[in-house]
Amino acid sequence: MLNLTDFRDHASAIIDWIDQYFQNIESFPVRPSVGPKEVYKKIPAHAPEQGEQPEEILKDFQEHILPGLTHWQHPNFHAYFPANNSVESIYAEMITASLGAQCMVWETSPAAAELEQRMMEWLGGAMGIPDTFEGVIQDSASTATLTAILTAREVATGFRSNEEGVPSNLKVYCSTETHSSIEKGVRISGIGKRNLVKIEVDDQMRMIPATLEKQIEKDIADGNLPCCVIAAIGTTGTVAIDPLKPIADICERYKIWLHIDAAYAGSALLLPEYRWMIEGMEKADSFVFNPHKWLFTNFDCSAYFIKDPDSLIRTFEVLPEYLKTGTRGLVNDYRDWGIPLGRRFRALKLWFVLRSYGLEGLREKLRYHIHLNQYFAEQIAQQPDFELISPPFLNFTCFRFKPEKPIEPTEINQLNEKLLDLINQSGQLFMSHYRVGEKFVIRMVIGQTYVQRKHVDHALAVIRYEANRLLNASQSVSQDLS
Ligand code: PLP
Repeated sequence: MLNLTDFRDHASAIIDWIDQYFQNIESFPVRPSVGPKEVYKKIPAHAPEQGEQPEEILKDFQEHILPGLTHWQHPNFHAYFPANNSVESIYAEMITASLGAQCMVWETSPAAAELEQRMMEWLGGAMGIPDTFEGVIQDSASTATLTAILTAREVATGFRSNEEGVPSNLKVYCSTETHSSIEKGVRISGIGKRNLVKIEVDDQMRMIPATLEKQIEKDIADGNLPCCVIAAIGTTGTVAIDPLKPIADICERYKIWLHIDAAYAGSALLLPEYRWMIEGMEKADSFVFNPHKWLFTNFDCSAYFIKDPDSLIRTFEVLPEYLKTGTRGLVNDYRDWGIPLGRRFRALKLWFVLRSYGLEGLREKLRYHIHLNQYFAEQIAQQPDFELISPPFLNFTCFRFKPEKPIEPTEINQLNEKLLDLINQSGQLFMSHYRVGEKFVIRMVIGQTYVQRKHVDHALAVIRYEANRLLNASQSVSQDLS
């Protein structure tokens, strides 16, 4: 066991390690090549009886754990959506961990609650969120969306579901393209998966408002109670933007809660040229985006905005004797604004990030990523054996390999699966895939905090190299056969 007086010695070694990690991050394969259970078997089956020194643990970490990790902060990581951090955010996380503060009610950490309130005001103001909304930090977009669904359920049932259980005729709507967290939220809320109605999308993968309205009318005629619509501002597959204004008008007409899932693309609202994405938001009820995705703030940090916090509090508030305080009503007790009681001091890292970058610095960084993506897409489009599936949008491009002459495997989907596999196995680059209709497509996201043009050139070179290998392999197969 260590004394507090030893802290500096050991912490220096950890800081040195972190420094070296960032200096050398590009020397690691982006994705490890370990097999299932390989790391598990290296970890002893039982916890040690005697305490060990941090140096020994750090040594084992480097030897056994590090080689089995995917490097999410690697500038050649372009898969899924990023979970980018920044040194500024890490500084704050170190302080947060040291304070170990529980931010459940104002009295347990007054400054944390008030900084959280201010940070949500800063973010909302900087992003053009209508000032009728108030914010709270949640751990993830999944939790925020569940929170929205539960609140919508209570509002639709006059706050009776919490008391009596959930009626079986509630309906929730989202497009066929929305994130799996919506289905999870609907299941957990007791509304039930069969009451989640997935509305079809147009050729740009956006929810079709006319279909939504027809479905709502039909459901009402059948005796159902529509309670929530979830619009996606940036779907996970292709970053499609649902048309918010007509969807918001429908929700207003039928008095249905409108939640906006902007988990990834929400960061782009810092750029005035992308504010069109939330036109109509003043009629919505709640909105979530993740600074832990594309705003240089360590996972986890999800910003949830709600127009009527009273309905949120009424949904979640349970007040046992031990949580009663003398300041109730004068301050925000965030335990009532979501699911967990205990809450980390997440506002601190937002404060560090927003202050150290400044809004101008953040806008510059986001625009640089968008510029790099434009460049990437142009380079892909210039190659005759590749095609863009849709125009590049934000920092996202969706493309596939489509050689002019058929090669083995002749099926284009299989070919792209194979190409992606080769690219990812190389450790040089990490991208992920999606299916657009029948097409297997490759997704490229350029959102790493320290990514530069040279990394995009590197990505293009790796993609070209692996595509050529596929072409050459197929040529030698056909020569052998002739
Ligand atoms: N919504 C969208 C559109 C997403 O892309 C994701 C994750 O990528 C989520 C929700 C879930 O985010 P979280 O991991 O914060 O729950």
